[in-house]
Amino acid sequence: MDQYVLVLNCGSSSIKFAIIEAKTGRSPLHGLAENLGTVSSKLGFSYQHKQHDGELPVNTDHQQALAVIADTLKQFEHLSRRIVAVGHRVVHGGEYFTHSTLIDEQVIHAIEKTSLMAPLHNPVNLTGINSAQNAFPHLPHIAVFDTAFFQTMPKHAYLYALPYELYQQHNIRRYGFHGTSHYYVAHEAAKALKKALGNCNLITAHLGNGCSIAAIRQGKAIDTSLGFTPLEGLMMGTRCGDIDPSIPAYLIEQLGYSASEVSELLNKESGLLGISKLSNDCRTLEQQAKEGNLQAKLALDMFIYRLVKYIGAYLAVVGTLDALVFTGGIGENSAYVRESTISQLQHLGLELDAEKNLEMRFGQSGLISHNSSKPIFAIATNEEWVIAKDAMLYVH
Ligand code: AMP
Repeated sequence: MDQYVLVLNCGSSSIKFAIIEAKTGRSPLHGLAENLGTVSSKLGFSYQHKQHDGELPVNTDHQQALAVIADTLKQFEHLSRRIVAVGHRVVHGGEYFTHSTLIDEQVIHAIEKTSLMAPLHNPVNLTGINSAQNAFPHLPHIAVFDTAFFQTMPKHAYLYALPYELYQQHNIRRYGFHGTSHYYVAHEAAKALKKALGNCNLITAHLGNGCSIAAIRQGKAIDTSLGFTPLEGLMMGTRCGDIDPSIPAYLIEQLGYSASEVSELLNKESGLLGISKLSNDCRTLEQQAKEGNLQAKLALDMFIYRLVKYIGAYLAVVGTLDALVFTGGIGENSAYVRESTISQLQHLGLELDAEKNLEMRFGQSGLISHNSSKPIFAIATNEEWVIAKDAMLYVH
């Protein structure tokens, strides 16, 4: 009989949920409770490709939303009685967690301790865990960390060149995020190459609203672009990526910003949105750039230029490359971004097959490189399946 895992991803005002078939990664039912804590709280879910939408009471909180989700799932008895575990996405595992883990008091305590470093994410992840434990008290609950895959990074890669005691006493270092996505596409690329992941040198680029790139040598992450928080590195939808670290002090001391205004500016008003002044959505910008909007074109050019620089840097550290992988909403779908990026990397042995590049979109995965190139893949990520598979390790 098929076994299912309930996968939960709690954000600050939303809960994504999915029932995942552990063996295949198939999801017969998945949904989203959103605008939690507001007047327009709502819950939608898709069952066998049919969408069902409903309102939630005003100011529904995470706990209440999870109770509604649990009730909703009970209506699909043939699925819910086969749920054998609950997998929770937890954004920050600090240095405590190198692997997914069964949640107990100690684990909750350690996640609480890392909340200082991820104040927007870990507290709501904990609320989600707590509420789900109440709603599903008889199931094992497993935490899967966005940071865990990057715990193999060597010290020379994860340290900042700051006074060493900031690392020793305050854990200030690079952690990396999107780990489950990088891990999944790395595995899929190794499978496609017919090699063991442990024998593969890969560069994986997760390009969505948040963006990160990872250097993977012999199957282990040795570097990644997101750092202490998910703000460093590539340009993103609304996040700035790399900037001169003096800019925040300048904004505060010379331009009168408060610390929280600076944080808002760097996280929510920058990136593609900040430059284009139009949108953080790559599709809109591609369309607008085609129609001659210069700011949209500039935003895309900057996004692509930075990506090219990071790929170049990681080619230098990863060893002989086995494959480059694109994933995430932009990486999986934007033939334009992939083409514009790779056309600048031909001198480093990377070249696309124009036709395959155009074809490989909308959930398809496969090779998009020219025969003469090092392999380049576009792979649809499936973080939920990684979470489900990890959760199954604790089902006996
Ligand atoms: P994600 O955060 O992974 O859901 O990715 C969101 C990003 O993917 C947004 O910037 C979207 O504009 C982008 N995206 C989704 N579909 C396409 C597409 N067909 N072409 C270009 N970008 C896309």
